[in-house]
Amino acid sequence: MSALERPQPRPGVLSIKAYVPGKSHAPGVAKVHKLSSNETPLGPSPQAVQAYLAEAERLHDYPDGSASALREAIGRAYGLDPDRIVCGAGSDDLLNLIARAYLQDGDEAIHTTHGFLVYPIATLGTGATPVVAPETNYTADVDAILAKVSERTKVVFLANPNNPTGTYIPFDEVKRLHAALPPRVLLVIDAAYAEYVRRNDYESGIDLVATSENVVMCRTFSKIYGLAALRLGWLYGPAHVVDALNRIRGPFNVNAPSIAAGVAAIGDTAHVELSRQHNERWLAWLTEEIGKLGLTVTPSVGNFILIHFPDEKGKTAKDADTLLTSRGVVMRAVGAYHLPDALRMSIGTEEANRLAVATLAALMGKKG
Ligand SMILES: *Cc1c(COP(=O)(O)O)cnc(C)c1O
Repeated sequence: MSALERPQPRPGVLSIKAYVPGKSHAPGVAKVHKLSSNETPLGPSPQAVQAYLAEAERLHDYPDGSASALREAIGRAYGLDPDRIVCGAGSDDLLNLIARAYLQDGDEAIHTTHGFLVYPIATLGTGATPVVAPETNYTADVDAILAKVSERTKVVFLANPNNPTGTYIPFDEVKRLHAALPPRVLLVIDAAYAEYVRRNDYESGIDLVATSENVVMCRTFSKIYGLAALRLGWLYGPAHVVDALNRIRGPFNVNAPSIAAGVAAIGDTAHVELSRQHNERWLAWLTEEIGKLGLTVTPSVGNFILIHFPDEKGKTAKDADTLLTSRGVVMRAVGAYHLPDALRMSIGTEEANRLAVATLAALMGKKG
């Protein structure tokens, strides 16, 4: 059979560069600190683990396909109508559902230069075209996004804060973006790191969803809640978008142990607060200490930092990655995000953070 006779994926699929997750190994090193996937160093709430384990007795039963208990728990926590919440197997699931429901061949979806890689992947999978809007200072630029809007634009993906840069735009800017978009364009605000942000001018987007017909906000249990392994995310949107997504989502796209763990996790506000405090302390410390070594750190409001390395023999991002890995500190190479000279480091335990700084000091020829 010739290549043309065999089954063909739809246009766009073979242009996708498959997502490469952060590495988790450091060969030959006894203790590995995985700082490559923005996981929390504090782990999940012990109550979430208990709730997860309790579900082991009921694995023969299908989960509640509408994840009612979880939507109600989220609704209580954020003051939202549970009927306007959709849960998914991670926010990846929700981003892909949005793409499938709203994009087709010939459409365009906008994201920014260093935007989250799932956006172009989800877009190409539908046959639509990802359109890249340039950033300014590693930050989304509302005017640049608006300049890319065309007749064909159907979706704008905005990670706020963005991964891997850690930067954010103030809520006034998000509102300005929304106000200038044609009403037929769906603005997708991906607020995966919202719980970490401590800025008076930041909002995750709930108000904008509540007052418009073309905005959705995605959230995840993978980051501050420490449930990345369970694959659990949620979305808040207008009733008509929720209706469309409920028609195409898998009927049991969220499993029962995840629903139980999610309910418990969202109820354990003390654990979330501990994680936030840990992050606030070490984000500031790492930014300052790494800065003192002569490396540039992009100011971050998330649970990770983007570290820029010089184009100097022995001190490049690749050299840094090699040295860090040899000492068990695993960061994220971000070449796929058009940042070949940088590494992204998740805020880790005190031990991991201190080891990272000491290793970078050695790299830079300074005493760590
Ligand atoms: C980590 C992350 C997510 C969450 O993905 P899940 O599928 O929920 O694990 C979503 N968006 C961004 C920008 C992220 O960094």
